[in-house]
Amino acid sequence: MDTCRAAVITEHNKPLTIQRVPIPKLDPGSLLVKITASTLCGTDVHRWHGPLGDDDTLPIITGHEPCGVIEEIGGERTDILGNPVKRGDRIVWSYVACGSCYYCAVALQPCICPGRASWGHNRSDQHPYLLGSCAEYMYVPKECLIIKVPEEVSSASAAASACSYRTVMHGFDRLGAIKSHETVVIQGSGPLGNFATAVARDHGAKKVLVIGAPAARLEVTKRMGADAVLNLEEVTEEKERRRWVRDHTEGRGADIVIQVANNMAVPEGLTLLRGGGRYLNIGAGGKANIAVEKLPQEMLFITVRSAEPRHWLQAIDFLASRRKIFPFEEMISKSYTLDQINDAMQAMASYQVVKAVINFS
Ligand SMILES: [Zn+2]
Ligand SMILES: [Zn+2]
Repeated sequence: MDTCRAAVITEHNKPLTIQRVPIPKLDPGSLLVKITASTLCGTDVHRWHGPLGDDDTLPIITGHEPCGVIEEIGGERTDILGNPVKRGDRIVWSYVACGSCYYCAVALQPCICPGRASWGHNRSDQHPYLLGSCAEYMYVPKECLIIKVPEEVSSASAAASACSYRTVMHGFDRLGAIKSHETVVIQGSGPLGNFATAVARDHGAKKVLVIGAPAARLEVTKRMGADAVLNLEEVTEEKERRRWVRDHTEGRGADIVIQVANNMAVPEGLTLLRGGGRYLNIGAGGKANIAVEKLPQEMLFITVRSAEPRHWLQAIDFLASRRKIFPFEEMISKSYTLDQINDAMQAMASYQVVKAVINFS
């Protein structure tokens, strides 16, 4: 059996090891993809520090944000738009929901399907072995929908579309239209926050205000279309931040607040919203309590988890069609090789980088 190199977590909190992992035979409709770039995400770091659920057992190949080139196809396949795909096409591909449970078939909410398959937490010693993105190859199950990556989008940006950016697209989808008189406040200036800034600007917000840190990230945020930014490290008082938002919104608070940091930001975020506004909660992790009696009146609270296949397409299309307006490449802060995986994970864990990418070439 052929093998390829992969970055494997064998023990929590211990250095990852580069191991040879089997390349499986292809089932009809499945694909083998040669990875060109894999971006890292906070979830990869959390999963390295400890299991994220009962199903998380080791060893696993880390990473769930892949972009790659088709090496082999088990028969004929088409992409999400119905176009044939061939060996050599550069692609990203969706997660898989079961299609037949209550959430998939009745509620049409496949992101909360209990039988949903995703990457970066699957055992590397069990078939089909290659379901983590920090590896030379990945196995793409036949149920995945395929999105071709146009030449003008880099592999690193396309890889980030496979998690952060498509989740933002899902959020905006659920949020609905932004009217031209509406002000959006974004809590967070990481990859999700900076991408959300560009999308809010693009969707016609009157003003986009971003609260985040550190200063270097906020410089990127400004170039992504923010009208004003507030550095959390400089303005440490919550009431000062609230005043800043009120000053920008004629005293009312924002029409829309988007949380792309952590659940801990939610209580403050709700105080930045005007009565009747919309709160979009995307950033996962962390804990907070909300006093129900303090919620703005008539507000909408929207949460999203992950994304549906069409949001992968929307993210890739946005990167391609808006590339002359927004400097997307600035969001990828540092490139590593597969052998430098531990440096890359450490850099993510200590927030030294916004988005690290493992480049294969
Ligand atoms: Zn992710
Ligand atoms: Zn399902």
